[in-house]
Amino acid sequence: MAKYTGPKCRLCRREGMKLFLKGDRCLSEKCSFEKRSYPPGQHGQTLTRRPSNYALQLREKQKIKRIYGVLERQFKKYFEMASRRKGKTGDNLMKILESRLDNVVYRLGFAASRSQARQLVNHGHFLVNGRPVNIPSYLLKPGDIVQVREKSKKLQIIHDAMRRIKGEHELPWLILEKAKMRGIFIQPPGRDQLDLDVKESLVVELYSK
Ligand code: SF4
Repeated sequence: MAKYTGPKCRLCRREGMKLFLKGDRCLSEKCSFEKRSYPPGQHGQTLTRRPSNYALQLREKQKIKRIYGVLERQFKKYFEMASRRKGKTGDNLMKILESRLDNVVYRLGFAASRSQARQLVNHGHFLVNGRPVNIPSYLLKPGDIVQVREKSKKLQIIHDAMRRIKGEHELPWLILEKAKMRGIFIQPPGRDQLDLDVKESLVVELYSK
């Protein structure tokens, strides 16, 4: 499956916010955005033009795609899926993105970033309801159980990521059973439960043109 392989920190600088694409580095003083929070490129520090509505909508779409590591074709597919469901399309879109297996692996704390989660899923380190699933874009259903495979329970990279989990897991739509190295996806989160600084309504406007 296609994925973005260019420099990740550049994406944060382009979007004007930390997208947390590099695990621990994002929380350290090595974070490029902390040092250079202006857009990349020769004119990054000098451009002051007011962005058009279209530019704002486009940037918001790019931001969401980059946070979840999804490329255009799949994102468009998610949007179409979201618009066919009942309720607000923007909310539905975020629910779909949050239901991706790689996202849930990251949210549960088994990986330090979504891209690391994606790689771990790709390499077959997880079971869903007892069956191996190696598709990062696999969409979980309410009640699904995500578990580290028995043979993968000793993987240092997973233990390192899990060391970051402090005390109780705080996300109300997930249950983490740390000792069993598994988690339950209760349901996709409501928009008010997500503390993401994105405006999905602009994406709806963009695709509705
Ligand atoms: Fe973004 Fe993380 Fe790079 Fe900082 S370290 S710029 S948050 S990817």
